[in-house]
Amino acid sequence: MTSLVNLLDFDPVQLVAYCGSLGEKPFRAKQLQRWIHQFGASQFDQMTDLAKSLRDKLATRAIVAAPAVISDHTSTDGTRKWLLDVGQGNAVEAVFIPEENRGTLCISTQAGCAVNCRFCSTGKQGFNRNLTVGEIIGQLWMAEFELRRTKGIEPGPRGERQITNVVMMGMGEPLLNFEPTVTALKMMLDDNAYGLSRRRVTLSTSGVVPMIDRLSQECPVALAVSLHASNDALRDGLVPLNKKYPLSELMAACVRYLEFAPRDFVTFEYCMLDGVNDSDEHARELVALVRGGKLTVPCKFNLIPFNPFPESGLLRSKNPRIKAFAGILMEAGIVTTIRKTRGDDIDAACGQLAGEVQDRTRVQERMQKQEEYKRKFGDNFGRIVEISS
Ligand code: SF4
Repeated sequence: MTSLVNLLDFDPVQLVAYCGSLGEKPFRAKQLQRWIHQFGASQFDQMTDLAKSLRDKLATRAIVAAPAVISDHTSTDGTRKWLLDVGQGNAVEAVFIPEENRGTLCISTQAGCAVNCRFCSTGKQGFNRNLTVGEIIGQLWMAEFELRRTKGIEPGPRGERQITNVVMMGMGEPLLNFEPTVTALKMMLDDNAYGLSRRRVTLSTSGVVPMIDRLSQECPVALAVSLHASNDALRDGLVPLNKKYPLSELMAACVRYLEFAPRDFVTFEYCMLDGVNDSDEHARELVALVRGGKLTVPCKFNLIPFNPFPESGLLRSKNPRIKAFAGILMEAGIVTTIRKTRGDDIDAACGQLAGEVQDRTRVQERMQKQEEYKRKFGDNFGRIVEISS
């Protein structure tokens, strides 16, 4: 028996080719795509305007399957987090963050991550594997239609869209899983699927310079860069990829990218680590990095209060320190926001839930460790604390 093809793996062009291989005209691919990505249909007999003969063919050859949901938690602030099974004991996360005028979904592109940033719990799990196109776009597919089902909103273009923005900031380095990531991005932008504008889709990278250039040519969406340090010596220790692509190269790549980007700035993510990267001197160094010398990088800073986890050995900067740091950037005319942390009653840092699945045997040991750290560093250790501006 031949294995079933997962139609979530196809971009619009590939879907036309697949329909062609079944002896069907290209417009059938468009119909099929709408059923899948606009109506959330996974059963071919739901697709009533497809010829019965095509539905029968598909039923024996294809499936529409997103990763299975292992857990589904909604926080009191409305943040909803899914833990998804991607096989062989691996799991990834997708998080929906509702706000006044938009709904943002944060998705993952790899199970684990090879970059191993010092402050990131995903990095500590190591790299397991790249996600397929279907596993990446499947997070959006599952979340959009699950949110609609929960709220009783009809599927299809007439029903109110729940996810208006997508950020690739979950587990993994998207640019190290380039082709599946770009295929999934194209599906997000396609008018016969989710029809999101490029400005509303953000890819976050730790700085894979050659791939930033490739992205600018193949699918330029909004760009965020995990910066976290103001000089190479510090960044080498926090984001090991910096040794390969140092700051001068990264800044130059950002400037090149902006020629093609849908927004006229790059967002720099900066995780605030107590006593490590959060001094006034670091803030001034950052200003010089993006404003000084030969290069000016049009940018915005997003300061992220670090979410401690036991193995990191790092602590979150104190709130007044974060505000003082932001003040220096803002005084230099750089738009700066402090990330409001969400969903604090459903878990802790990125990658932490997923780690639990792989590592059930060590849960007891980790809980003991967590208690030990709490005694040492206070009750808020391992929790997200909201900073009001
Ligand atoms: S911060 Fe991003 S790139 Fe760095 S280890 Fe974590 S998932 Fe990977």
